Amino acid sequence: MTQIFNFSAGPAVLPKEVLTQAAAEMLDWHGSGMSVMEMSHRGPEFMSIYQAAERDLRELLAVPDNYKILFMQGGGLSQNALIPLNLLGHKPAGATIDFIHTGSWSGKSIKEAGKYAKVNIAASSTSAVPPQAEWQLTPAASAAYLHMCTNETIDGVEYQPDFSDARFAERVLVADMSSHILSRVIDVAKYGVIFAGAQKNIGPAGVTIVIIRDDLLGKALPVCPSAFDFKLVADNESMYNTPPTYGIYIAGLVFQWLKQQGGVAEMERRAKAKADLLYAALDADDFYQNRVARQNRSRMNVPFYLKDESKNEAFLAGAKARGLLQLKGHKSVGGMRASIYNAMPIEGVQALVDYLNEFAGRAGK
Ligand SMILES: *Cc1c(COP(=O)(O)O)cnc(C)c1O
Repeated sequence: MTQIFNFSAGPAVLPKEVLTQAAAEMLDWHGSGMSVMEMSHRGPEFMSIYQAAERDLRELLAVPDNYKILFMQGGGLSQNALIPLNLLGHKPAGATIDFIHTGSWSGKSIKEAGKYAKVNIAASSTSAVPPQAEWQLTPAASAAYLHMCTNETIDGVEYQPDFSDARFAERVLVADMSSHILSRVIDVAKYGVIFAGAQKNIGPAGVTIVIIRDDLLGKALPVCPSAFDFKLVADNESMYNTPPTYGIYIAGLVFQWLKQQGGVAEMERRAKAKADLLYAALDADDFYQNRVARQNRSRMNVPFYLKDESKNEAFLAGAKARGLLQLKGHKSVGGMRASIYNAMPIEGVQALVDYLNEFAGRAGK
């Protein structure tokens, strides 16, 4: 079989070592005689899996002690409702949620939040993040929180806020990091809430990670569903209802793998190297185009277009024949997209670059 490289945006590639270990442990986890899928979530076996996963994620992201890590369900999109439902309870009616609109996912967050509160789009652009000094934030006294999506999976826009901005000190920052969590070093203490669906850079679809500062717990609106009340989930170590146990187990194996590889700093180094290699091939001439401002180009999701779009089908067919899978762009933007998450080895990116060069007729250059 040809070596396969999977560039899917999500559900996405997982480390081969993790899948191999999961396969070996499928029928009998550590001599327990049970598959992880068959275990009580409150039994000692699963509790040990859960606690190791929580501890390892806390270590990988250097999550401070005054933050809780929740393993929830519902995916990234459900958080667009759960965040307002959980944070607005202590806010005066009329509090406004600020948004930085940088693409599809923040766009969806804006729409959903509008069901629960007034929203203010403080800045909007989907190909270059507007300069922070120009963000039109609601005055702190009437601001509920500020929501941003720091990696737009569809648009390929990535950024980090400039925390020297004094306005952050008096505001709660909420970040959707679904598609780049664990790919770069972040300072968790700068955020009120970080959330991420697992299926991009962590594990199987179904698990949703929420990292929340203690003082933001217990502020849910009365209508917030109990199973999604962050305080109830936190007080019950994510076991208020049955958590997605198998997904948490796989996520835990991914966290162990990340630690063995050298942790988040090493992932960031590799992400830079892989992204640099790929963008250089796209920029070599005008055969391909990436339309994102250079300073905001995502290291995880690389959308690109063929200058001659009539060659799209041929491009994808040739890629597939070489084992380069799932390169078709999101239907809303067309073109191509290569997602190069933590589990994508540099060999996969090199194979894609070789193909890009060959297809563009640059062979031998
Ligand atoms: C994939 C994704 C989501 C949505 O995740 P679901 O699990 O499908 O709800 C939200 N935000 C970002 C940035 C994503 O990449």
